[in-house]
Amino acid sequence: LVIGVPREVFAGEKRVATVPDVVEKLIKLGFKLTVESGAGDLANFSDDAYRAAGAEIAESAAKLWSGADIVFKVRGPSDEEVGLMREGGTLISFIWPAQNPELMQKLAAKKVTVLAIDALPRQLSRAQKMDALTSQAGVAGYRAVIEAANGFGRFFNGQITAAGKVPPAKVFIAGAGVAGLAAIGTAAGLGAIVRANDTRAEVADQVKSLGGEFVKVEYEEEGSGGGGYAKVMSEGFMQAQREMYAKQAREVDIIITTALIPGKPAPKLITAEMVQSMKPGSVIVDMAAEQGGNCELTEPGQAVVKHGVTIIGYTDLVSRLSRQSSTLYASNLFRLTEELCKTKDGLINVNMEDDAIRGLTVIKDGEITWPAPALKAP
Ligand code: NAD
Repeated sequence: LVIGVPREVFAGEKRVATVPDVVEKLIKLGFKLTVESGAGDLANFSDDAYRAAGAEIAESAAKLWSGADIVFKVRGPSDEEVGLMREGGTLISFIWPAQNPELMQKLAAKKVTVLAIDALPRQLSRAQKMDALTSQAGVAGYRAVIEAANGFGRFFNGQITAAGKVPPAKVFIAGAGVAGLAAIGTAAGLGAIVRANDTRAEVADQVKSLGGEFVKVEYEEEGSGGGGYAKVMSEGFMQAQREMYAKQAREVDIIITTALIPGKPAPKLITAEMVQSMKPGSVIVDMAAEQGGNCELTEPGQAVVKHGVTIIGYTDLVSRLSRQSSTLYASNLFRLTEELCKTKDGLINVNMEDDAIRGLTVIKDGEITWPAPALKAP
């Protein structure tokens, strides 16, 4: 079969769904690869690099889509792209079916099969190698620290020089999921003093192992909802949490917020008053900007200065490191393709008896199969 990789059309999206190294591996599995001209430009992968790896270059999106049996994408398809899809084809991409019911209907009407990489059952240890949410959140967490360092007027590490002593920067990370843990590791690696908090007490050991200090909210309430994700906390807890965060805001130089609750707006953790209490030149990176923000003063997509504090609400952190994020995403899709093509003959079998594949498959031959039935407890 032919795997096609179009140029992403979403404004500001710089990633590409496969990279030359992975093209070679997919060809070894028996597939033919076609990449749209310019697809990798914004991630620094040239047409020539794809050609050298064995791919054909399609001169237009129309040619790419019409010749592909399977399409690899990053962002869910636009209306125009759905129009270009071949009946009976397969699409592997981020889809977010709960948020995009219309797209689901349009894809189903095209009688295609769709594997939504965001619907992977992440709790299966076998699924980890395909987990693009984790790989991309890791990149975002790293980049958030780089953006913070760029906006901060001092060193992260402490230094003793002939010119005097420089204290290390203090960084507070709100939310220690995948992105938060990556941010902790990165900030600690740059030499900062790192503290972190999460409503799920189970992450405390992971915070410590990455060189951070876990700061607890003095209020007895467990924060785990279903599937290892967070739940909405009681008002009593939130009050106690705000008091602790207010103290951190006065002490630290940098705050990186990553707190999310699936299907809910991002919890507001950093108030305008807390921003005002921070030292001049401090930086906040609000990684929840797209879901409403963890900070009251965040402007999504922008970096703004309020009360002398730079508040970064970029919603394209992953695209700001597009070569790295594309490489990891391409690797996740390769691992998935290996699962679909155990026979290594360039054909795929969307096996609905396999828990991981079943979870991902949101449309099968035009029939909506999302949401998948809950997994049996192991
Ligand atoms: P996320 O992006 O949904 O949330 C980020 C973090 O914000 C979470 O750690 C959450 O607990 C925290 N949070 C929510 N409300 C908060 C509040 N009021 N204050 C402070 N923190 C708050 O989460 P994610 O990074 O996608 O990962 C979440 C879960 O998925 C974790 O349990 C992780 O272990 C799990 N996961 C499991 C696997 C696996 O088992 N293979 C792989 C990846 C992720």
